[in-house]
Amino acid sequence: MSQRIPGFETLAIHSGAQPDPATGARITPIYQTTAYVFNDTDHAASLFGLQAFGNIYTRIMNPTQAVLEERLAALEGGTAALAVASGHAAQMLVFHTIMTSGDNFISARRLYGGSINQFGHSFKNFGWEVRWADVDKPETISSQIDERTKAIFIESFANPAGFVTDIEAMAKIAHDHGIPLIVDNTMASPYLVRPIEHGADIVVRSLTKFLGGHGNSMGGVIVDGGTFDWSASDKYPMLSKPRDEYAGVVLHETFGNFAFAIACRVLGLRDLGPAIAPMNAFLILTGIETLALRMQRHCDNALAVAKHLKAHPKVEWVEYSGLEDHHNHALMKRYSPKGSGSVFTFGVKGGYEAGVKFVEGVEIISHLANIGDTRTLVIHPASTTHRQLTDEQRALAGAGNDVVRLSIGIENVDDIIADIDQALDKA
Ligand SMILES: *Cc1c(COP(=O)(O)O)cnc(C)c1O
Repeated sequence: MSQRIPGFETLAIHSGAQPDPATGARITPIYQTTAYVFNDTDHAASLFGLQAFGNIYTRIMNPTQAVLEERLAALEGGTAALAVASGHAAQMLVFHTIMTSGDNFISARRLYGGSINQFGHSFKNFGWEVRWADVDKPETISSQIDERTKAIFIESFANPAGFVTDIEAMAKIAHDHGIPLIVDNTMASPYLVRPIEHGADIVVRSLTKFLGGHGNSMGGVIVDGGTFDWSASDKYPMLSKPRDEYAGVVLHETFGNFAFAIACRVLGLRDLGPAIAPMNAFLILTGIETLALRMQRHCDNALAVAKHLKAHPKVEWVEYSGLEDHHNHALMKRYSPKGSGSVFTFGVKGGYEAGVKFVEGVEIISHLANIGDTRTLVIHPASTTHRQLTDEQRALAGAGNDVVRLSIGIENVDDIIADIDQALDKA
C-alpha cells in the first residue's frame, strides 16, 4: 500500500481506524465514556489551552467520533471534519462560526424543507438574515451580496427532485466576493460528488441519510476544505481575532488550513452542545464501509424505476436527472458521472386523491419522512409535510397535489417496481 493513493472504497473502510491499541479489537470500539483521565495538571492545562490535542469531555471530542471525522475528511477530500448530532446541528455550527447579529448569507431557494425552516425562522432569532436566490440565475445571487454577506449556501443535489447545482459557477461568485461557498452534500454523498474538488470551501451533510444508510441513527458533519483565507478580511472575527478564553490564541493563525473545523469544535460545539452519541458514530462508521456498494445500487435501481414510471400510463411526469431527456442531465453527467442518486419525484394522474391512495397502497415501500435508507421510502408532500399550505403555495414549493417523492432503496429492483405497479393500480 505504501506508495499507492488508496481508492474511495478502501478509504471508506480503513481511513482513520487502527486496531484498538489496548485490546487489538479490529473494529473501532464504542467509547461510551463522558470524560478522560488527565496525566497530570500540566497535561490538563495544555489540553484546555489548545496547546495539545486530546480528549477532555465527550461534548467536545470522543475517540469513536474522531475516527468518523478522519474518515469523512478523507472521503470528501477535506483537511479536517467535525461530526455532530444531526445535519441541522452541523448547519447551526457552521453559521455560528461565521455570522454575527446583522449579518446575512445567500441561500439557494431549492432546498431541503427543514433547512428552509431553520434558515428562515430560527436563524432570524439570532439576527442572521437569509437571502433566497435562484441558482439557475447567478445574477440574482451577485445582486444580493453586500458587505455583511458572509457565505453562499447550496445543495449539490437539491431536495426533493434531485436537481444538480453548478458548484463551480457558485464557487466563482463566492470567491469573487471574498466569501466561502458552503455545500450541503447530503443527497449526493461523496461517492457521487466531492464538492471541495469543484471549489466548495465547506461541506456540510446529514449522516442520517446515505452515510449511515440504514435509517438507524442521527448524525451530521462539517468538512473543512482548508481552502478559504479567513484572515483576508475582517469578516470572520471568530477565526481571525484573538480568543480571550484561549489566552489570546488566533485560531486561523494557529491552526491554518483546518482552523474552521477547530473553530466549529472549540467554540460552536463547546458552547451550543450538539455532540454526536458514540453509539451513533459507531453505527455510521459501519454504514460508511459499504457506501460505495450501496450508493451504486441506489443509483442503478432509481434509474430503472424512473424509466419504468416514465412509460407508465398512470404517471403524468417524472423528474429524474438520470433520464436522458431531463433538462438537468448534462450538468448531472458533469458532476456525477456514476449515477444520479436515489431521490426523485413523479406526478401521479388523479392529483391529491390519487397521491394519497398511492402512498397508502404500497406494501414493501415505507410511507415516512426520510431519505437514504436501504429501504425504498415514499412520501406524498401535499398530504403530509406541506398539508397546511394552499394549493397555490404547494405548487410554488414543488409540492403540488400530484407530487410523490421516492427514495429508492437497494432491494431487488423487480420487487420495488412490482410494489409501485400494484399501488398505482389502486390509485
Ligand atoms: C435530512 C437533511 C438535512 C438535515 O439533516 P438531519 O440529520 O435530519 O438533521 C439537511 N439537508 C438535507 C439535504 C437533508 O436531506
